[in-house]
Amino acid sequence: MTGTEGFAPSVPPADEVTAPWWDATRRHRLVLQTCPRCVRDGRPGAQHPPRALCVRCGSDDLDWTGTNGLGVVDSCTVVHRPPRPGVTVPYVVARVRLTEGVLLLTRLRGQSPDAWRIDDRVRVAWADLADGRALPVFVPADATAPPAPAPTTAPTTEGG
Ligand SMILES: [Zn+2]
Repeated sequence: MTGTEGFAPSVPPADEVTAPWWDATRRHRLVLQTCPRCVRDGRPGAQHPPRALCVRCGSDDLDWTGTNGLGVVDSCTVVHRPPRPGVTVPYVVARVRLTEGVLLLTRLRGQSPDAWRIDDRVRVAWADLADGRALPVFVPADATAPPAPAPTTAPTTEGG
């Protein structure tokens, strides 16, 4: 299993709006588009997927902030029938609610597909794509692998 089962070739290319999000996935960082104006006014500032404008106030002055990659399963379903030839089944399609309150359409891994329950605590893991980008998937939060990198809001100066 390559770790990208069922994703390619349906992953969209990065565009002007989504490029920062995709670039962060190359470093296995899960970031969210955030509206400073909404945060300043006491509203939830994070939104996903990335958009040209804030969905709450319409501002086009948007930032990116790191997440701790933690959340809970909001809903999930097990896919038993391959959508295309060559796709490995079963796999779990899920909506995960991040700690920041944002919903992410994703996959669940790390335990039997039928073992997942609503409200299970999860943390982000990564499915690497052939072009260097990666897709966030989620595994049980108490899994033994190392935790996600610490959140960061500063531009990175490391490698690359
Ligand atoms: Zn806003």
